[in-house]
Amino acid sequence: MKKTGPKAAIFLDRDGTIIEDRGYLTKKEQVCFYPQSFTALKKLQKHFLLFILTNQGGVSQGLQSRSQVDALNEYVVEELAHRGIHITATYCCYHQRSDNCACIKPKNFFPLKAALDYDISLEHSWTMGDHYHDVELGINMGGRGLYVLTGHGEKHKHSLPEDLPHLKDIAEAADYILSNRSAIPSNYLTMKEAAQRLKNGEVVAIPTETVYGLAGAALNEQALLKIFEAKNRPHFDPLILHGSCISDIESLVEYFPEKALQLAERFWPGPLTLVLPRSEIVPDLVTAGLETVAVRIPSHPMAQRIIEMAGTALAAPSANPFGAISPTHASHVQRQLGERIDGIVDGGASSVGIESTIVGYWKGEFQLLRPGGIPQEDIEEVVGPLKSFRTQEGSIPAPGTMKRHYSPKTPMVLQPPGMSAPQKGKIGRLTFGETKYEDCPIQLNLSPRGHLEEAAIHLYDFMRKLDGMGLDLIVADELPKDGLGRGINDRLQRAATKE
Ligand SMILES: [Zn+2]
Repeated sequence: MKKTGPKAAIFLDRDGTIIEDRGYLTKKEQVCFYPQSFTALKKLQKHFLLFILTNQGGVSQGLQSRSQVDALNEYVVEELAHRGIHITATYCCYHQRSDNCACIKPKNFFPLKAALDYDISLEHSWTMGDHYHDVELGINMGGRGLYVLTGHGEKHKHSLPEDLPHLKDIAEAADYILSNRSAIPSNYLTMKEAAQRLKNGEVVAIPTETVYGLAGAALNEQALLKIFEAKNRPHFDPLILHGSCISDIESLVEYFPEKALQLAERFWPGPLTLVLPRSEIVPDLVTAGLETVAVRIPSHPMAQRIIEMAGTALAAPSANPFGAISPTHASHVQRQLGERIDGIVDGGASSVGIESTIVGYWKGEFQLLRPGGIPQEDIEEVVGPLKSFRTQEGSIPAPGTMKRHYSPKTPMVLQPPGMSAPQKGKIGRLTFGETKYEDCPIQLNLSPRGHLEEAAIHLYDFMRKLDGMGLDLIVADELPKDGLGRGINDRLQRAATKE
């Protein structure tokens, strides 16, 4: 195993994967290991940190006590330890789905916690279990998930997507992982390594909940120049500064208007950027010479940790060449910018998937400068109706508001759903909800269930996939024009705009 840099992990379901599923266990006498678990885990731990990630919803239903569950988890870990298998940590969700907790699978709460505590490269990590949500968890965290046919696996097999590999048991799954794993690139950094580089004025791609950012110390002009250079970014486009707490931000702005503070309290940390009167310490390179500065506190825990350890606010525009599709996975950054920057921190798949909503405050009024990860309606609940923004000749008052932006190389059009393609040739469709096109073999659906949040998460990844298929044209369907739909349509519109 590598001595420095991040590590890869496996998040193992417990019941039905490592031990037999015998319902809600309360006593260690009920624990029955699958005999193949031991050899499989021994093989895996040579290359991976091992975690147990189990859902014990019986606690919430009163069928088991929390202390019974904890004691049982401890027993499983001890038994494995006796056989030379080290479990790095055990994570347990005690809730049932109707509790609507943050930690139930397939939410990537625990993998993210592991990444924060142990510097895990989630992209190189795997999940394994006997439910489809174990597989979805792997996808949601930005890695891969495997389905085993032990436990409930055989029973639910028929409801799974067709192309999902089924593995007989943990032994087969371990072999599958060992023959499909890939090495972590040498430019992937731990959070500490990244913070050190940022202190030295270098530029590093970091995960945020919106998209990956190319970060540099906010007040270091050399670092800012490196960002522009790596991105090929025109100097007249301002940068968003990221802090880990409100006091980081306070030094960057001249003052915090009362209403802006209310927005900050409601939506930070999270995908809201505020454009406020700048303080004197902010370099012109950040503001593009404007009297305002764009600031935000990201909610991705690894971004927060890196900012804290670097001891400075960070400028962090999306980590892609200027005008190209924004990255939502570390591997996207690696492909587009890996050679041109000083390293990448992998924090898994970005959970929002589109850029922040930008709201500007100027002379007592709030304006929507860019729709994004927080719906306009939610912001208006706090500050009342927003003035909508119109580009003035020659000025670009906020990041990412140029007409053409976020674009694939393949020509793209945006049109209402259900319309036929405007030309013949090799067409790829980007769809949403129930819309299907019988005449088009290439279709990617942003959310077959019609969920806007899900569509936002998939947006850039799917644009990137279509862009790689050698198409003559990408035809994107407009999404519903409310909530997050506005931000997504905005990105599609910019991607479809010709220069
Ligand atoms: Zn939970």
